[in-house]
Amino acid sequence: MRRRGKVYLVGAGPGDPELLTLKAVRVLGIADVVLVDELVNRAVFVHIREGARVVRVGKRGGCKSTSQAFIERLLVSEAKAGHVVVRLKGGDPFIFGRGGEEAETLCRAGVEYEVVNGITSGLAAATAAGVPLTHRDYSQGVIFVTAHAGRGREPDWAALAASRMTLVIYMGIERCEAVESALLAAGLSRSTPVAVVENATLPRERQLRTTLGCLSRDVAAHHTESPSIMVIGEVVRAAESADRWTVQPPMHEVHGDSANVARQTAITLVPVRT
Ligand code: SAH
Repeated sequence: MRRRGKVYLVGAGPGDPELLTLKAVRVLGIADVVLVDELVNRAVFVHIREGARVVRVGKRGGCKSTSQAFIERLLVSEAKAGHVVVRLKGGDPFIFGRGGEEAETLCRAGVEYEVVNGITSGLAAATAAGVPLTHRDYSQGVIFVTAHAGRGREPDWAALAASRMTLVIYMGIERCEAVESALLAAGLSRSTPVAVVENATLPRERQLRTTLGCLSRDVAAHHTESPSIMVIGEVVRAAESADRWTVQPPMHEVHGDSANVARQTAITLVPVRT
């Protein structure tokens, strides 16, 4: 009788290969086929079993990429052929990773599957920026939200602003101007602190500390690009106390305007891992 196949939907974490879970490492070691997303750091490939087939199915910045429907068909057909399939995704598979859609397809097709959590980039980016997301002096909670207005659905920025929660925004860097104006229009103060982390936990990580009122201007000035996470809320101020205890490499760049404004509006762009 043919071996029953199985699909593991696995989170590869934000980039640093040491942030991979032990379970992710184990299933990479037993996989016959590994379907890898663009954002996954190649450094994790060392855990893939020798002889396994690795298929890269990236989709970045509007480039030509494998369609979601094709990926899902491949997951089903490989599993039905009796293979152990790992679908390796950046961060966590169930946080903006379309893992939910893949799980539904597998379920409908009667394919056994298991989800292996990864550290989502929103958590990793906040930590990289020294932001303790739920520090009780500043915030009662945190909201993960995408700024990507997919399928014509714009997030309810007014409700988000009214929540007073820390906002962790995914896929937002290209839309930061819209995010800034929507949150300002919803009543958030221009001085609300913001941390932007590009390529969190990777050697090329960059951080930008600014305020909501200067967000789009500073993102443009520093050419901050995707993949980036924006953390918006009073809790970003807590990162300043972390700064005092963290030995930073020399500042890459300090925005000119920061000299004559309060410390919390100073803008730093720091390559933290050199
Ligand atoms: N499933 C992923 C998110 C996929 S959506 C997760 O849990 O992290 C893609 C978005 O994730 C990017 O647009 C960016 O906002 C964010 N992202 C992924 N990796 C990142 C990284 N290393 N640094 C900063 N943002 C990242």
